[in-house]
Amino acid sequence: MNFTFTKEQLMIQQMAKEFAEKYLEPVAEQVDRENKIPDEILKGLAELDLFGIPYAEEYGGAGGGYDGYVLAMEQISRACSGVAMTISAHSLSLSAINVFGTEEQKKKYMTPACKGEHIASFAFTEPQTGSDPKQLATTAKKVGNEYILNGTKRFISNANWPGVAVIFAVDDQTGKPSGFLVEKFCEGYSISEPWDKIGMHGGQLLDIYLKDVRVPAENMLGGPSMGYPILQLGISFGKVGVSSTALGGILAAYEEGVKYATEKMHRDAPISKFQAVQLRIADMAIKYEAARWLTYRLGCLANNVKDPRAFAKEAALTKTFVCDTMVDVARISIDIHGSYGLMNDYKIAKIYKDAIIGPEIEGVADMQKLIVAGVTLAERK
Ligand SMILES: Cc1cc2nc3c(=O)[nH]c(=O)nc-3n(C[C@H](O)[C@H](O)[C@H](O)COP(=O)(O)OP(=O)(O)OC[C@H]3O[C@@H](n4cnc5c(N)ncnc54)[C@H](O)[C@@H]3O)c2cc1C
Repeated sequence: MNFTFTKEQLMIQQMAKEFAEKYLEPVAEQVDRENKIPDEILKGLAELDLFGIPYAEEYGGAGGGYDGYVLAMEQISRACSGVAMTISAHSLSLSAINVFGTEEQKKKYMTPACKGEHIASFAFTEPQTGSDPKQLATTAKKVGNEYILNGTKRFISNANWPGVAVIFAVDDQTGKPSGFLVEKFCEGYSISEPWDKIGMHGGQLLDIYLKDVRVPAENMLGGPSMGYPILQLGISFGKVGVSSTALGGILAAYEEGVKYATEKMHRDAPISKFQAVQLRIADMAIKYEAARWLTYRLGCLANNVKDPRAFAKEAALTKTFVCDTMVDVARISIDIHGSYGLMNDYKIAKIYKDAIIGPEIEGVADMQKLIVAGVTLAERK
């Protein structure tokens, strides 16, 4: 057991922190207001290889591992959650391709995405379901050497950017879900207006409409009927991104609470003089440390997944704890702010709106607990 960072880990963390403080913090309010990430920010992220931190250099990545990824994502999210959410959804897609893709697929689709020339998507959710692969209604019909995809995908992050989308559809050859690599904005691909979601602005959510989209058979990911394993393992990797995004939110909420407690005056002394406020500061510190080490540990585990089921449990329990903790810490920080914390002029109000998103995405909190219990019970057999 070693809780000391390596030189490389410190370097990635420091580089992301500097970028976040210098470039993201000054535009965070604008990103929230306009629900759009400025082009120069995307360019800056790409220049620092922040779109491909965990992946091998031969596929355009930075070779920083998932341990480096969580450290960088925490800093990015602390400054601007919408940017972190964009990278998290992008990395969910790339992680699935990284594990299940052929050499050609990885070179073709990961390289421009890791370099930030493209932003990737992962499209599972549909109007009927977000949790149950058996209810998928999107179809893939084999015609000659192609599949023809038809259906609607709901709430898909990054669907507005060009790049690859991993799209799940029921394959008519097997009657089961398979994954397909679709180039966004190909013929038959269209999108809705962005959903007006409550928080994490900048990261956009759109519906995707697939109308007779022709996909070469070689763009099937992982082989026929592999949809479910791709979904399970892909989403486990996705939870590394969601957990580190929530971790950055916890840090931001904690810092805002401490700042307010030391600046807000009551009878000529800061409110941090009150023991009740000090207890809240301690609660935030305790919760941040617990969430932090659980998330860093998940990053290290993601570097070397031998048993997808065991990893699914670790990812699910980390994601549940860290996302729930972000809601708790944002709430505690609001208590320190009193009514000011409910005003949109204060950063903590935005953080709270971001916080309540985490438990509902990449598998709702209840489903995470069912995964944890299911694997735990199976391990005892
Ligand atoms: C910010 C954001 C980003 C997103 N990005 C993406 C994306 O990039 N790609 C994508 O595919 N989706 C994305 N989504 C969609 C999201 O992943 C789904 O909405 C989520 O998984 C939940 O699905 P649902 O809303 O259909 O809820 P449902 O699955 O309908 O669940 C609703 C409720 O029913 C309960 N429930 C459902 N099934 C069971 C069961 N079997 N046992 C017990 N309880 C159950 C759940 O616990 C929950 O409380 C995103 C959503 C948001 C808000």
